[in-house]
Amino acid sequence: YEASRYKVSMNVLVVGGAGYIGSHCVRQLAATGHRPIVLDNLVFGHRGALLSEIPFYHADIADDEVELILKNEKIDLVMHFAAFAYVGESVEDPLKYYFNNSVATLHLLRSMVRCKVMRFVFSSTCATFGIPETVPISEDHPQHPINPYGQTKLDVENALNHISRATGMSFAAFRYFNAAGASEDGTIGEDHDPETHLIPLAIDAAVGKRPHLSILGTDYPTPDGTCLRDYVHVDDLSRAHIVVCDKLNTPGTQLFYNLGTGRPHSVLEIINAVETVSGKKVPRVAGVRRAGDPPSLCAD
Ligand code: UDP
Repeated sequence: YEASRYKVSMNVLVVGGAGYIGSHCVRQLAATGHRPIVLDNLVFGHRGALLSEIPFYHADIADDEVELILKNEKIDLVMHFAAFAYVGESVEDPLKYYFNNSVATLHLLRSMVRCKVMRFVFSSTCATFGIPETVPISEDHPQHPINPYGQTKLDVENALNHISRATGMSFAAFRYFNAAGASEDGTIGEDHDPETHLIPLAIDAAVGKRPHLSILGTDYPTPDGTCLRDYVHVDDLSRAHIVVCDKLNTPGTQLFYNLGTGRPHSVLEIINAVETVSGKKVPRVAGVRRAGDPPSLCAD
């Protein structure tokens, strides 16, 4: 993704650009000759994940200020990474998820339409598929989410379809599988609070920051009894965002992509990989299944 391959430089508003996937994407946008401008409310994002020269607005996507930013910065395209993404929490507090992930995104889209910013890249999720009927999961697999988090993302996908037809907005919706990894220089990576994701928790257990890792279910109908997931590197996810920038120039374009590797790995395989790389044991205990976890998710 050298800069020379991308001839048109865009002003890209990266909403949630101080978060995990967003911050990696900001780096690639800058490296490929685009001009990223970040908007983040810093509820989960980290200001330190961004270089000081990146224009930064500490704001919320539902704020009126967004329209001023879209106009003043002459934004060509919006990438929207800002969302709450804890499946369990979404079951306990659905209103929080509907307001933040669905309603706030509609505010952002309305601001874009008012300002005639007509290119949008949306972070959707494999959680929109629910328990898949067939694995690997293709883009046209039926979407029946089993938790509010997945539903709020699907609601936005559906709204985008209608908004695009009515206004000519062009968009790409990326269904992420399991984002993993850190930038190669090690300066940014996964940094959630609270942390609930397998790989950072396994690493913490290996280096003694946590007493052990709980394996959340050992009786799934999979080869080793633990869940299968498609872990895709955060820089590969980011690359998809760069590639899609120049595919949104025709009004009304609608693109849906599953972003994964097509290769599933079990929880035990991830633990083994952490042990191999670190040379340390990962102390583990067998725990119960987590509500809302499908046995196997893998992208086609
Ligand atoms: N998992 C686990 N122990 C943990 C956290 C996660 O066994 O402490 C399992 C979880 O059940 C799932 C896989 O690891 O099968 C990936 O979970 P993660 O939370 O990283 O991502 P998700 O699939 O929920 O997006």
